[in-house]
Amino acid sequence: DLFYRQMPKVELHAHLNGSVSFSTIEKLMARKPHLNIEHNMTAILSGQKRTLDECFQVFKVIHQLIDTEEDILMVAKDVIREFAEDGVKYLELRTTPREDKNTGMTKRSYVQTVIEAIRQCKNEGLDIEVRLLVSVDRRHGVEVAMKTVKLAEDFMRSTDGFVVGLDLSGDPTVGHGGDLLPALQKAKNCGLKLSLHLSEVPSQVDESELLLNIPPDRIGHGTFLHPEVGGAQSLVDKVMKNNTPLELCLTSNVKGQTVSSYSNHHLLYWYQKGHPIVICTDDRGVFCTELSKEYQLAASTFSLSREAMWSLSQKAIDFTFAPDSLKQQLHQKWFELHPSLF
Ligand code: 5GP
Repeated sequence: DLFYRQMPKVELHAHLNGSVSFSTIEKLMARKPHLNIEHNMTAILSGQKRTLDECFQVFKVIHQLIDTEEDILMVAKDVIREFAEDGVKYLELRTTPREDKNTGMTKRSYVQTVIEAIRQCKNEGLDIEVRLLVSVDRRHGVEVAMKTVKLAEDFMRSTDGFVVGLDLSGDPTVGHGGDLLPALQKAKNCGLKLSLHLSEVPSQVDESELLLNIPPDRIGHGTFLHPEVGGAQSLVDKVMKNNTPLELCLTSNVKGQTVSSYSNHHLLYWYQKGHPIVICTDDRGVFCTELSKEYQLAASTFSLSREAMWSLSQKAIDFTFAPDSLKQQLHQKWFELHPSLF
């Protein structure tokens, strides 16, 4: 639908290596033919489903394809360009710094390269503002998390405001989020905004309770927060008291089978409460989607009008980790574009 492509949008939950399109994967495969990787190993095609565990295997394959600074630069620039082509005006990318002994890539040079890609896109005049969240992979434990926070803090202080926050992600069935509290608290104290994957799988009530006490600035997924799906009213109360926005990714949750169907998605629960939500892609490459598609899916699944969807996309501006001056510029952009679409 052209309307949702043309509608200006804010993307707040996009993992860099999960956002790589097939055309970029093809370029990477040409660089590394010895890996013998096929498309169905890097993406979950339409109509297909995988377990969450299988989804995490897909990231391992993609990481094999992207292991040099050169790869990261190309991937990040392609991803930013493709989001811009889909009408995204403000993008918060998130990515886990990786090192590779063979290619000499370090966690620092990894982040530096993503920032370089953001700079280059800006200089090329793309109509999109991009900011970065540094991801902590929960599988790696608190020591690595502490180092990652330090890295994020260094970049936040040294690079023209490109790094704005920290993300907690990685396989939710591994480790306990509570162990990472010291690192997350440190990030919060030094001024990094926090977006935490929370209640992504069932029975994480204790963990979610601890993480919500920090409290985070945004929540990723929050699929199993509410009591109807085994969460707890106390969790819902906390989220509502703090008015913490939820980042919701319909296709990702359905293809990863944490949600049984589009119409059963928890978007409806929170939307009906008038709680802040933002529609996102999660991994547009892996799940073969686009942000415009996700808006259209939400509209058709829950019978929401174009005006209602516009309003969701506009409100998302206030949930970004951007400075107030940029939020104002974005509001102005939405205001100017509105008449051309309605
Ligand atoms: P990267 O951080 O390498 O740019 O993006 C891929 C990584 O993002 C994965 O290895 C994983 O740690 C994280 N990720 C991507 N999608 C999801 C998701 O749906 N749930 C969680 N918990 N983590 C994810």
